[in-house]
This record gives sequence, C-alpha cells and structure tokens, in this order.
Amino acid sequence: MSDFDPQSLAPETLMMRYGYNPWWSEGAVKPPLFLTSTFLFKTAEDGEEFFKVALRKKKGEGVQGLIYSRLNTPSLEILEERLALWEKAEKASVFASGMAAISTTLLALCQPGDAVAYTVPIYGGTAHFMKEMLAKFRIEGIPIAAGADAAQELRRIAPKNLRMVFVETPSNPTLIMTSVQGIRKSADELAARSGREVLVAVDNTMLGPVFQHPIQHGADLSIYSATKFIGGHSDLIAGAVLGRAALIGEINVFRSFLGTMGSPFVCWQMMRSLETLKVRMEKQADNASAVAQFLASHPQVQKVYFPGLSVQGSPDGDIVAEQLTGTGSMISFEVRGGKSKAFSVLNSVKVCHLAVSLGGTETLIEHPKTMTHSEIDEELMQRCGITDGLIRLSVGLESPADLIADLRQALDS
Ligand SMILES: *Cc1c(COP(=O)(O)O)cnc(C)c1O
Repeated sequence: MSDFDPQSLAPETLMMRYGYNPWWSEGAVKPPLFLTSTFLFKTAEDGEEFFKVALRKKKGEGVQGLIYSRLNTPSLEILEERLALWEKAEKASVFASGMAAISTTLLALCQPGDAVAYTVPIYGGTAHFMKEMLAKFRIEGIPIAAGADAAQELRRIAPKNLRMVFVETPSNPTLIMTSVQGIRKSADELAARSGREVLVAVDNTMLGPVFQHPIQHGADLSIYSATKFIGGHSDLIAGAVLGRAALIGEINVFRSFLGTMGSPFVCWQMMRSLETLKVRMEKQADNASAVAQFLASHPQVQKVYFPGLSVQGSPDGDIVAEQLTGTGSMISFEVRGGKSKAFSVLNSVKVCHLAVSLGGTETLIEHPKTMTHSEIDEELMQRCGITDGLIRLSVGLESPADLIADLRQALDS
C-alpha cells in the first residue's frame, strides 16, 4: 500500500489507506488501536540504534524504531503522515491539545531574550500563554492588531530580537483576515536586518486544513486545535503542528520530554475523523452560507461576519480571495437590542446548542463578550467589534432549513 504516490492522489483519497499496510496487522483494513506503553526490541543493537535516532544523536539517518509510547506509537505515526498531506507539509506532529501544540512549539523554538509577535484578538489560551507564561522564560510577547495592516505594523515596530510571528487568521470571533504572504514578507525583511531567521507560525484552526493552507502562502508552521474541525465531532481534545522536517524534529524533542503528545486512542479517533474531514467541512460551509444569507436578511440582525459575505475590493475581501479556497462555517452576527436580545436568542434556540468550542457536527452558539472572549480588555473588545449584541455560531451538519427555522423563531421571540 505504501507504493502510492501521494502527489498523484487527493488527500481525501489517501485518508483511507496512506501510511498503513494491512498486512502489518493480519489484514485489518483499518489501523488497529495500539494500547501499549512499550515495544519489544528484536536485539539490543536495535534498541541502541532507535535511541540514537530518537534523541537526534544521529541526524538524518537511521530508522526510527518504536520504543515507548511517549516517543512514538503506530497510531500517532500513521495519523501524522496522513495529516501532513492536507497541506503538502513534510511532517506533522500531533499533541494532546491545541494548547499543547502551541506551548510546546513556542518553548522548543524560542529562547530567553527572544520576542514573539502575535496578532490580537487571538484565542484566549494563546493570549494567556503569550502574556503570562512566556515572561517566565524571558521571552517577550508583542501584540499586533490582526487584519490587513498587520504586516505593516510589524515592520513599524521592528523588534530586533524577533524570533517568531504567530498569526491567527481568521481571528475569532469577527473573522478578521490577516495575509500570511504579507506577514512572510515583513518577517523576511526584519530577518535580513537582524541576520536571524524569523519564523512565521499560523493558527489554522478556523479554516484548515481544507480551506486555508498557510504553508503554501509562506508560513513555516501551521498549527491546529484538532479538537475543532479535524476531530470534528466534539468528542476529543487534540492539537497538531505541520511544517518542514527540521522544525518538526526540534519540536518533537520537546514534545517527548514535556510529554505533550497525542494518546493512541485520540489518534485513532482522529484517523476516523480524517476520512470524513472534507465532506464535513464542505457541507458545513454550504450550510453556513445558507444561514449567513438568512441572517443578513433578518430585520433583528444588524451585521453579519462571514468570509462568504465579505465585500470584494475591501482589504478583507482581497485576503479572502488570495488565501481561502472556501468560506468555512464560522459566522458571527450582531443583533439589535444588545445583550438582552442576544441572551434571549441563546435561551430560545432548540436545534443549536448553547456551548463554546467550534467545528463539530452539531451547531454551537455562544456570546463572545461574556463567554469565550470575556477576559479581553474593553478597548480591544471595542476595536475588534466584540459588542453586547454579538453572537458566534459554528454551523454543523443539521439540515440548513431546520437551522434557519430555529434561528428565525429565536430571533422573532
Ligand atoms: C480551541 C482553540 C485553541 C486551543 O485548542 P485546545 O484543543 O482547546 O487546547 C487554539 N486556537 C484556536 C483558534 C482555537 O479555537
């Protein structure tokens, strides 16, 4: 089975067999779940060799044999090979959570004295890590405003000790787009001045890996909360990082010692999820498009944020056209009547689920200002449109007619 040329087949085709030979496991069509903490060595020499490769004492040669499930397991390795295909990345690394992926990446690639610029607004956990935790390692977090001007702002601030730019695009909850190509250009200019490589990492949770491919737009790393679309069923917590082999190798050394890798069972769940990733994301995007059009026409709705509705010729519209191959299924909308109207909508829905998170098969609805984004300071809330009347929707796989009817009765009530 491994004689498939991954270049010639689409990722959705390869999800059903790439990286796994059924004859490794009695002809089992699906990769079994390997619930074992440790693996037999055929010989002591093999054990010695595997450790040398794992600890990177031997670079670029030797086979990485199975040792111990904190370092590698078949479930993890097959999943990583499949995940990398979606962005034509050299390697992928899977983690216990999105935050494990983000924190391990930053700790592995930055040193005391370095600076990391990051776009705001950004996922709450990422913001906390950048603001509160990097300081313990004497790494400076520098916020820059997400959006069409982010690359210019980075050039203006031009931190001399810049090691990484961490971009979340689109940024939550108002789906502000930042150009990965623009950030790459600024990062390269700053690197030329300082004589030091500046890495570009993109949190691709919202639209990837189907509708946005940051590595193809110049990013070094594409990072995921796989809890969201990749897992896709709101039944697991996981994360991933995709990029070139050398960087993923450095990250994996830290992952091994921090113990932040994905567990075999969650990897097995994710392999099942990857088989339906494309159909799920495409259908969810179609449903979202129908819901967004309905919302835009409802008299109680003041404003709708959805990449499919962004105005062509606006800076946002240009980035959507250059960077996205689909709209995704996240919508935010502002109702007339502020918080009391927003809460009345949240309390009246029957098909949508009142819960945070996103990317699952079920439609989720929440109030960013008092829930996911409640820790953000007031000034930033105002700047990025997180108002009392703002509601965030992650559109699922229900019938769009049922979703629209549910939202209509909630808005009219
Ligand atoms: C959820 C999320 C994270 C954190 O991921 P966990 O799997 O919850 O650790 C990071 N970034 C974004 C954009 C997210 O939505």
